[in-house]
Amino acid sequence: MTLPSVDTHAHVDEIEDLASALAAARAAGVVAIIAVGQGLASNQRTLEIAREYPGFVYPALGLHPWRLAEEDVDRCLEFIDTHAAEAIATGEIGLDYHKRVRAIADKDRQQAVFRELLKIAARRGQPALVHSRYAWRDALDLVEEAGVTKAVFHWYTGTSSVLREIIERGYYVSATPAVEYHEEHRRAVKEAPAGQLLLETDCPVVYGRGGAGEFRASPADVARSLKGAAALRGIAEEELARLTTENAVRLFGLDVKS
Ligand SMILES: [Zn+2]
Repeated sequence: MTLPSVDTHAHVDEIEDLASALAAARAAGVVAIIAVGQGLASNQRTLEIAREYPGFVYPALGLHPWRLAEEDVDRCLEFIDTHAAEAIATGEIGLDYHKRVRAIADKDRQQAVFRELLKIAARRGQPALVHSRYAWRDALDLVEEAGVTKAVFHWYTGTSSVLREIIERGYYVSATPAVEYHEEHRRAVKEAPAGQLLLETDCPVVYGRGGAGEFRASPADVARSLKGAAALRGIAEEELARLTTENAVRLFGLDVKS
């Protein structure tokens, strides 16, 4: 049995053999994919792919904090701004305070770029797709400060107290296949109200704790996010598929029947 689902965070520009991966996703019940860009070339490719799969792949344009050293930031911001009307969201954007990331762009630099990106999202009224690793509090504060009213804290692994505020502000969190094993992520997916939970894969990320259980995700694996989240919350997969698809359709204004 296949259940309708939306992969709300996929790096489709990085998937090898994309046509097969998208066909497999449709066969697995995926009705829409939010394709997130990470930098200039990634954004260009993401738009191209979305044009090839209208009504199925929906583009978001962004600049990932990991890319700050290698990208021409001003050109990238300009591209995102001028092409914002072709996108349904601004992302992937955010902050990452892991020391390896701070080594390429310190907190001040990351925050300055994130603020510029949030301005675009706020001006367009678009959802911001936020990466917030080890920077949950600052990411939330900056999103609010920018006047962004729609945001997804994707693959959230932060504290319960910041999660409560995310929820109070009406923002969303999304579950990845790491819901099968990652303690902090499991807690967030369990605590978030059903009306503010989405599913995603962050593909082509590799999941698992090493060894035989490892796998490289593709959009079809949103079924694993669904299965893991439903088991954790003690509700039927059918019910959670319906709720999370409704949430995605409402948040992104998708043209799919849920
Ligand atoms: Zn991502």
